[in-house]
Amino acid sequence: MKEVIENDEKQKKGSRAREDYLEQISNLIEEKGYARVVDIAQNLGISQASVTGMIQRMDSDGLVSYEKYRGVVLTSDGERIAKAIIKRHKSLAEFFNLFGLNDEETYQDIEGIEHHMNQKTLKTIQALTDELQRQPALLERVKSKVSTKS
Ligand code: MN
Repeated sequence: MKEVIENDEKQKKGSRAREDYLEQISNLIEEKGYARVVDIAQNLGISQASVTGMIQRMDSDGLVSYEKYRGVVLTSDGERIAKAIIKRHKSLAEFFNLFGLNDEETYQDIEGIEHHMNQKTLKTIQALTDELQRQPALLERVKSKVSTKS
């Protein structure tokens, strides 16, 4: 049983790391046109050697491929997953923006929680965002509670 839990934890950490990599690679390609190991390492605060190892594993899983002149590129599977990850991050940012929190303030929090949201919980947040946008009076009431309590 203990072993099962450990494996599960390990797997979760593994998929979380993969999500962070896919997100960073996609953002770098969008910003710069390419994703180099050195930039991925810097953005994730991880050594270049660790990044290289992970890229190799993700390459054998069919998520990325390494091209000599272009650096790390996403395969179609990698790109599809990266898009969903980025959309999830944006949905969460949009939710917190409603309450006046900007993307910079919420970035680290979202990086922490985004990996733990399944489709259903994410949809709940999206529906709530949608409703609050349509009901400014309710939104103001919620906002006033947040500002007086902190
Ligand atoms: Mn994110």
